[in-house]
Amino acid sequence: MPEKVVKPEVVKSDEEWRRELTAEQYQVARRKGTEPAFTGQYWNHHEDGTYSCVCCGNPLFESETKFDSGTGWPSFSAPIAPESVGTETDSAYGMRRVEVVCNKCGAHLGHVLKMGLRPRVCATA
Ligand SMILES: [Zn+2]
Repeated sequence: MPEKVVKPEVVKSDEEWRRELTAEQYQVARRKGTEPAFTGQYWNHHEDGTYSCVCCGNPLFESETKFDSGTGWPSFSAPIAPESVGTETDSAYGMRRVEVVCNKCGAHLGHVLKMGLRPRVCATA
């Protein structure tokens, strides 16, 4: 039996993330914040490309799966690969939502909408 492959994890201290990210990126990705709708860099972005994790560069979504959800946040119907993103149950604010995280570094990407995924701050590769 081959050994189970354990993916490299990107682990950095809070201080390191704070240094490397902009204030908004840090708030959203590391503190589970939300930028105001219709203000993000990519909600109305229509170029072809790959959306990668702003923290660790892990490829997350392809532009072909991006769709206009009307929410003002970039939305994707599927991740680039099933193992690239993970989900966690988020009970903040008394709501039960499913949070979407980067599987490599644990960055907060957004929440699952009924219509698909809604990640927020991502950077194009
Ligand atoms: Zn990441």
